[in-house]
Amino acid sequence: MTESSPLSVLVGALADGSVEVVDLTSPLSAATPVIQLPPEFGQTARFELEEISRYDDRGPAWYWNNFTSGEHTGTHFDAPNHWVTGKDLADVASVPARRLIAPAVVLDFTAEVEKNPDFLVEIDHIKAWEAEHAPLPDGGWLFVRTGWSAHSHSQEAFLNADENGPHTPGLSPECARWVAQETHVLGLGVETVGTDAGKANSFDPPFPCHSYLMGSDKYGLTQLQNLDRLPPTGSVVIAGPLPIVSGSGAPARVLALVERQ
Ligand code: MN
Repeated sequence: MTESSPLSVLVGALADGSVEVVDLTSPLSAATPVIQLPPEFGQTARFELEEISRYDDRGPAWYWNNFTSGEHTGTHFDAPNHWVTGKDLADVASVPARRLIAPAVVLDFTAEVEKNPDFLVEIDHIKAWEAEHAPLPDGGWLFVRTGWSAHSHSQEAFLNADENGPHTPGLSPECARWVAQETHVLGLGVETVGTDAGKANSFDPPFPCHSYLMGSDKYGLTQLQNLDRLPPTGSVVIAGPLPIVSGSGAPARVLALVERQ
């Protein structure tokens, strides 16, 4: 590496703080909220640790655990084969490594969601944002900031369900179709338990973000946090799902590189 090589510049910028690393990942524990589907469907597992040894009879000098988890537990990556519309497309281990590092844009709907937890992003919201900032990035992430990660301390608050089901924000069906089929984004990242709105089971099609995005070979990232620390444009995201062979998704460490002035 010469001093001016791109990686040298990056290493220097990380060392002097002019590029900051922002962790977008929610901590993974038994308390991490998980999605709850209507009772007729199969349910995902919470994250759980099972201690193997802790400097004791079972292993005098070492501490380690087994863990169990759903693929879609905590901050995680949705692969195209997660949905029937993408069933012949990539599993999570087949997603090219090259696509795991990509630019991101952040659209902020915190104020709207504060007033209405069922808020849905529409095509016009995104077009207005593009007119003010930039076109959505080819091969980059569309992150929808809603402030919802503030509720992630509690399963109940995070799912926000009543007798009519969960109330959490998302995209309208038409907007989901447009993002998936008429833009060139890599995928959609959200703060909520899944990429779809809480009410999306009743949409046409049901779960439109999953249906359209997975069917268009796009990806999902969920339960992101710290999106308030990203600029609207200009960050670079590294999303590292576990390469579960034939898996439909996986818990992921998601980091963003952000330039500081
Ligand atoms: Mn998922």
